Amino acid sequence: MAQISNHMATAELQALDADHHMHPFSTQAGFKTKGARVITRASGTRLWDSEGNEILDAMAGLWCVNIGYGRDELAEVAYRQMKELPYYNTFFQTTHVPVIALSARLAELAPGDLNHVFYAGSGSEANDTNIRMVRFYWAQKGKPDKNIIISRKNGYHGSTLGAMSLGGMSGMHAQGGVVQNVHHIDQPNWWAEGGDMTPEEFGLERAQQLEKAILELGEDRVAAFIAEPIQGAGGVIVPPETYWPEIKRICDKYEILLIADEVICGFGRTGQWFGSQTVGIQPHIMTIAKGLSSGYAPIGGSIVCDEVAEVVGSGEFNHGYTYAGHPVSAAVALENLRILDEEKIIETAREQIAPYLKQQFEALVDHPMVGEAKIVGHMGSIALTPNKETRAKFAAEAGTVGYICRERCFANNLIMRHVGDRMIISPPLVFTRDDVDLLISRARKSLDEAYAKVKAEGLF
Ligand code: PMP
Repeated sequence: MAQISNHMATAELQALDADHHMHPFSTQAGFKTKGARVITRASGTRLWDSEGNEILDAMAGLWCVNIGYGRDELAEVAYRQMKELPYYNTFFQTTHVPVIALSARLAELAPGDLNHVFYAGSGSEANDTNIRMVRFYWAQKGKPDKNIIISRKNGYHGSTLGAMSLGGMSGMHAQGGVVQNVHHIDQPNWWAEGGDMTPEEFGLERAQQLEKAILELGEDRVAAFIAEPIQGAGGVIVPPETYWPEIKRICDKYEILLIADEVICGFGRTGQWFGSQTVGIQPHIMTIAKGLSSGYAPIGGSIVCDEVAEVVGSGEFNHGYTYAGHPVSAAVALENLRILDEEKIIETAREQIAPYLKQQFEALVDHPMVGEAKIVGHMGSIALTPNKETRAKFAAEAGTVGYICRERCFANNLIMRHVGDRMIISPPLVFTRDDVDLLISRARKSLDEAYAKVKAEGLF
C-alpha cells in the first residue's frame, strides 16, 4: 500500500477512512457518500483541513484544547518524559515523579479539602471510578445498601457502561446496558421545559426534585448526586440562578455525597479554575479530564476530599487502569497547568475576553431564528426556534434544523456544534477579540443561510 500521509488526495483519504475507521457517535454508512473532513494541522485557535481551508475552532476540539493548539512546550515535555520513563504504573506500591507532581499541584488548585487524586485515562473512566468509589465508601462505613446514585436526564458523563448509565441521554440508554441503581431527575433546562414558570421558580422546582428523590428512595439508600455545574453535551444548559444554591442546601441536609463532573467545566472554562467555584458548591469528588491536559494527552481522574479518601483508603479498593496516571500524560498535564497559571490564561479569558464574547454572543438573540443566547465564561449556546415568544420547537424532528445550521457553519469554516436544535460553543481560552469577531460574523452568516434553507424547505 502507498504510504498514507497528509499529501494524499482528500478523496482517497476519505475512502480509506470510510472503509476502515469506525467513527464515534456517527452513522458509519454515511461516510461512504459524504466523506469526513480531514483535519491535518492546527495552531492557536485555528485548524486546517486537507483542502487547505483555515477553520476557526469555536469548540476547542471536544471542549478540551483550553490553551490552544501548537504549544511546543507540551510536545517537548512529552518527548523528554518518553525518553526518561515512557511508562510505569502506580499499582503494587510503586509511584513516579510526574504523578506525584501532578497530584500535589491538583491538590493546591482544587477548592477546599479536595486533596487526593485517583487517575483514569478519560472522563468516562473517571466516572466509572466514581460509581465504584462512592459505593465502596458507603460499604466501608457499614452501609452497603447506600448505593443509588442520582443524576439528571440529559446530563452527559461518558460512554462506558457506568458513565453512560449515570448520564441521562435517552438515545444511549435505548441501546442497552444501563447499570442498576442509578436514578435520574429532570434537568434545569428552563427554555425547553420551564412552561409558564419564571426561570427562578423553575430552578427551585428542579432542584427540589433531588430532595423528593432522596425522600422517596430513602436517605439510607442514596449514595451520591452527580451533575455537571453547567450541562455541556446536553446543549450548554445554563441553570437558573436559584438552582445550585438549592441543590447545595439539599446536599448539606442529607447524608449524600456530591460529585461535580468538571470534565468540561474544569480548568477555566467557566471563568474560574473549576465550575464548582462559579456555581458556589464544594463537592466531595470532582471528575476531571479534557482541559487537564488541554487534550494534548489522554488523562482523567477524580479529585477526592479528605474524608472520602480516608475512608476509601482504609480498605483495599479493587479498581485501577493500566494507563491511570500515565507518566507522559501526567507530565503534559502538569506543563499545561503551568502555562494556564503563569500566562494567566484563565484571568485574561475571564476579564478581557469573556465580557466582550458575552455581549457579542448574546446579541445573536436578535436573529429571527434564535430564541435564547446564553454564555458563562467560555461555554455558551443558542436555542433555535420558530417562535421566540412561545419557545416553540420546530415541527421537524429535533435536531433537523440544528444540523442544517451546523452544516452551514462547517461550510463557512466555523466549528460550532449542534445538540438537537441548540448551537453550542466552547472556544479555546486563548480566543482573542478578533477571534470573537470572526466567530460572530461567521455564525451570523451561517444562521442567515440556515434560516433561508429552513424557510425554503417549509420547516419554519
Ligand atoms: N463528563 C462530561 C461532563 C463530559 O462532557 C464528557 C465528554 N464530553 C465525559 C464526562 C466523558 O469524557 P471522555 O470522553 O473523556 O470519556
